[in-house]
Amino acid sequence: MNQTKTLFLENTYLFAMLANVLETGTDEYGNYFVVDRSIYYPQGGGQRSDDGYISLGKEHEIKIIKAKYTDNGMRHYTESIVPKEILHREVAMHIFQDSRRTNAAYHTAGHWLSQLIFENMQLPLFPVKGHHFPNEAYIEFEGNANCITPETIDEMRMVMQIDLQANPKMNVTLAKIGSKLFESALLPKNFKPPINKPLRFTRIEGYRWLPCGGTHLDSLREIKSVIPIEFYTKSGKLRLKYRCEMWGSIAS
Ligand SMILES: [Zn+2]
Repeated sequence: MNQTKTLFLENTYLFAMLANVLETGTDEYGNYFVVDRSIYYPQGGGQRSDDGYISLGKEHEIKIIKAKYTDNGMRHYTESIVPKEILHREVAMHIFQDSRRTNAAYHTAGHWLSQLIFENMQLPLFPVKGHHFPNEAYIEFEGNANCITPETIDEMRMVMQIDLQANPKMNVTLAKIGSKLFESALLPKNFKPPINKPLRFTRIEGYRWLPCGGTHLDSLREIKSVIPIEFYTKSGKLRLKYRCEMWGSIAS
């Protein structure tokens, strides 16, 4: 059985590394390869997948289009056929750091805004879903939408300013079901532990732990600004639309 070490769970900022190709093949989703370790985030938890590729010298540069967890490791699906020559070879895996940072920022901001509303402002709105894609991001809530007033967004901005004064960091840890941390965590309704993935928790300092397998920035201040835009209703569900501004590209 091939298991893939998922390095993106440990380090958001690892943008390139070497990996050994354990398997190549084709299934109903397309051409794929499996490596012993990966930095490529497969879409999930409302966060979009990374943009990345593997290379074996200049002649083989293979774009990764998505990845999926399986019992036999993570299958990385590719745009083109995976050449047989890469099997049992060491390849370089790359992900584009600007899109990783932006995806992690939107994801991190989604946690912050939803917990800020529920835990900090204590509005009767329980976050049930996040869509953290750049330019289309929103958080969906269950609860009483009558608590939203024309001033709510301004009040959120003030609370955000107060939060930022403490320069909150993001913490990440693994925890077992029934542990003290698990019992104190903010769990989604009908929470089921993930299959084929570790049970991992994250926390913005000052807020409750919650289970999450996404990539996060190390601190909220790494985002230039998080902008709550508007509350609106879609199919009877209350949503908050938001966006993030980044500090600009970091030269590599
Ligand atoms: Zn998360």
